[in-house]
Amino acid sequence: MIRFIFLSLLAMPVFSVPAQAGESEVVDAWCDYLGNRLRSVSADACHAQNFVAAEVRTPQGNPLVTRDIPAAGQAGTEAKRILVIGGIHGDELTSISVVFRWLDWLGQADAATYQWRVIPVANPDGLMAKPSTRVNANGVDLNRNFQTPDWDRDAQDYWVKRTRRDPRRYPGKSAGSEAETRWLQDQIADYRPDLIISVHAPYNLLDYDGPVPEPMRFGRLSLNRLGVYPGSMGNYAGVFKQIPVITIELPNATSMPSQRDQQAMWEDMLKWVRHNIKDLAVPGPTAKR
Ligand SMILES: [Zn+2]
Repeated sequence: MIRFIFLSLLAMPVFSVPAQAGESEVVDAWCDYLGNRLRSVSADACHAQNFVAAEVRTPQGNPLVTRDIPAAGQAGTEAKRILVIGGIHGDELTSISVVFRWLDWLGQADAATYQWRVIPVANPDGLMAKPSTRVNANGVDLNRNFQTPDWDRDAQDYWVKRTRRDPRRYPGKSAGSEAETRWLQDQIADYRPDLIISVHAPYNLLDYDGPVPEPMRFGRLSLNRLGVYPGSMGNYAGVFKQIPVITIELPNATSMPSQRDQQAMWEDMLKWVRHNIKDLAVPGPTAKR
């Protein structure tokens, strides 16, 4: 037995499965899971998307999956980049389903002038827990774990005093302690988005951090600023990195908005993007933010 393990270890670099093949199996299994778990997402529709699994895995070994959609008719990288993130809280199921709905709409003329990177499930361990949890498998609220400048001073204190040690809002042992958080930070650094849209539920509002004028209303959702939390994505990307971050809080975590409400939200969002994400980015890798 020991000899077998030893030989297997020796053989691994030579005979390991090519990354590509392993990756597509991982994505297929992930799509099958989502198709079963989410009423509004079909496994077939998920398979049809060209999702890519990152090399990084979650503590439970689940994949972190992205899809890039280039701008229509533009081979280059001049078009503004929009990063969409769903499911950073694993029990906010509609935040994932809405992102899948948007994937169907990204080919429409208004949306196709932008480049999109879509991360439908940023916290797969939380989603796949039974029951699903806000936090990841280590019990950390990923949206309080980003490496914001105020984290060391404020995050633990905030958790103890303001949330009274709410286990659903535990920020972690240290800033960026979680693989998912570090991976999201890397996504922001690599993709250099001009806008980040992060979808949540169920507070039924819009929140915003960053430069450029704030959105006032998307469909039935109105701006209602919740404040800046140590370790949140809005704080990290919007305040610290000065990338506009829109936080969409859907009205219900398990029941989707009506088709009409989804459509109105989408149209207002694209309209806001058209008016506000045009002058911000300077093309090229030296773009100043
Ligand atoms: Zn949330």
